[in-house]
Amino acid sequence: MRRPIVAANWKMNMTSGPGVELARGVAADLEGFDGADVVICPPFTVLATVGEILRDTAIGLGAQDVHWEPDGAFTGEISTAMLTDVGCQWVIVGHSERRTYFGETDETVLRKVEAVMTAGLRPIVCVGETLEQRESDRTEAVLRTQISDGLRGLGSRLAEVVIAYEPVWAIGTGRTATPEQAQAAHLFIRGLVGEMAGDQIAHGMRIQYGGSAKPSNASELFALPDVDGGLIGGACLKADSFAEVVRAAV
Ligand code: PEP
Repeated sequence: MRRPIVAANWKMNMTSGPGVELARGVAADLEGFDGADVVICPPFTVLATVGEILRDTAIGLGAQDVHWEPDGAFTGEISTAMLTDVGCQWVIVGHSERRTYFGETDETVLRKVEAVMTAGLRPIVCVGETLEQRESDRTEAVLRTQISDGLRGLGSRLAEVVIAYEPVWAIGTGRTATPEQAQAAHLFIRGLVGEMAGDQIAHGMRIQYGGSAKPSNASELFALPDVDGGLIGGACLKADSFAEVVRAAV
């Protein structure tokens, strides 16, 4: 049995006041909940503050990105040590918004994943096809490249990775993958991981769905056999809706 994992990606939202309120709200709504791993990924500027609020809860703290070098002349970047220093346990790597707007590639994804794991942090690695790729029947080819290049050479360390399948056309659009589309993609991803690291690791790996998941559709998506929770954007910005999505994972 895989334990579901639901992560909140606050993206570029929340200054300290509203961020504190949201984190406190989620912590209160989920007090005593033990049916899934829950992670909140705020922007860098409120990581420490939100980390303080989550410290005595079962909710984990994650970052939305990281640089692969340990330190040095990389103006504007954040290292794994800086994330560990403020209490992070998780890092989102390769989100489609970073791939689209900031030039993230499978090569930089791999460098970041290596750095994250070397630092003892856990990566949530995002993959997914664009609408054009889906409509031209290239979904599986795109996923194969993203996973075989972005997670190359990790071997048994793949067991520590969470993959988020996020069809780009579903992110922030209100257009969710159908259960059939989501299950087919997740099963395909699990098969790829099996090719790379063996069946045992593939069966144990948690694969989240992301893309307009919300209280009204989360139960149906999370009940699919190869969907192990979700990465949530829009619906995580209100405590009650995020808590409802989390509970749908059980
Ligand atoms: C995301 O950004 O990872 C995401 C899934 O966003 P949304 O839920 O808003 O589609």
